[in-house]
Amino acid sequence: QLTSQKCTTGCPILDRLLYGGIPCDSITEIVAESGSGKTQICLQLSLHAQLPVSHGGLAASSLYLHTEFPFPFRRLHQLCLSFRSSNAHHFPVNDNPCDRIFVQSVHTADHLLEIMSKTDPFIENSKNQVPVRLIVIDSIAALFRSDFDNTPVELKRRSSLFFKISSKLKALAKRFNLAVLVTNQVVDLVGPNEGINGLFLSRNEEVIREENEKSNGQSCDFVKKKMRKLYVVFAPHLPESSCEFEITREGLFG
Ligand code: ADP
Repeated sequence: QLTSQKCTTGCPILDRLLYGGIPCDSITEIVAESGSGKTQICLQLSLHAQLPVSHGGLAASSLYLHTEFPFPFRRLHQLCLSFRSSNAHHFPVNDNPCDRIFVQSVHTADHLLEIMSKTDPFIENSKNQVPVRLIVIDSIAALFRSDFDNTPVELKRRSSLFFKISSKLKALAKRFNLAVLVTNQVVDLVGPNEGINGLFLSRNEEVIREENEKSNGQSCDFVKKKMRKLYVVFAPHLPESSCEFEITREGLFG
């Protein structure tokens, strides 16, 4: 994985932690409580995947499977505005990068498997236009939370479905050299697993960083920034380490 292609997150400090971004050819899972910023990372990644390879992107479109409702279209458009204004030279005038994010809602784990059985031809066909090179599932846990009781039979069904889904994702990642980003609210669902990189996003450790901001060359008041922390928990190509970043109206910043 050290040499596998990476997709920039659009945030230099996160890219540095991840040695360039989210890797192709494997699955990356971000585990965190609700409200930590998982969706913000997914949205920003889907936009940045469209950048040319020379700028850290995959020159690709993405398939965004969401299980939480409603899908944050307004937030995507807001992030897209700042993405476009900083990368205008890469896109034609009047081009809308949101058009290259194929958003699909998913309601159950069986539904996800059904969608994934149609994903191969979908990605194959996309090669004629802007190929799909990124799959996001935000979040996988929601599918396994609602549908299952804690009985042995249900737990077995759950783990068998989960195995099928992760095997299919791995096969897709390999076949099409995709980056796959999956979010999860519960820690025990996946665990260290061959072919899966685990990242942990902490909200509890929000730290306030005070910075002396300068405007027009003049020093002004300290501003308080709410920083979040992303940890590499297990990933064969990365050391265990962490970094802090901030979520702003414009996106993720280090
Ligand atoms: P998760 O997917 O982990 O549940 P989200 O990705 O939805 O979490 O993150 C929600 C957080 O993102 C909010 O608590 C807020 O701090 C931040 N956020 C969302 N939109 C904006 C915005 N427009 N400006 C600044 N911060 C935002």
